[in-house]
Amino acid sequence: MPLISELLQEVLVCPVCHGELEVDEAKSVLRCKNDGLEFPVRDGIPIMMVNDAGQPMSEAEEAEMKKRIAEAEEADDKATVGL
Ligand SMILES: [Zn+2]
Repeated sequence: MPLISELLQEVLVCPVCHGELEVDEAKSVLRCKNDGLEFPVRDGIPIMMVNDAGQPMSEAEEAEMKKRIAEAEEADDKATVGL
């Protein structure tokens, strides 16, 4: 079982430099061949997000981001209720 599907690997590029990515099965990461940035793969899904510093997000940063997105969506729901 490959870390990610071949198709996914073909279409994915580094979000920072758009360079080619290589799969590191041992570490469960995708690594950019240009700048060496590593993106974690969780449950077969590559996490291709970068923080403000242009570095791959840590799990904590990712959780914080998801929280903010959820809050924004919730606010959105409330805004449409009154219509
Ligand atoms: Zn790169």
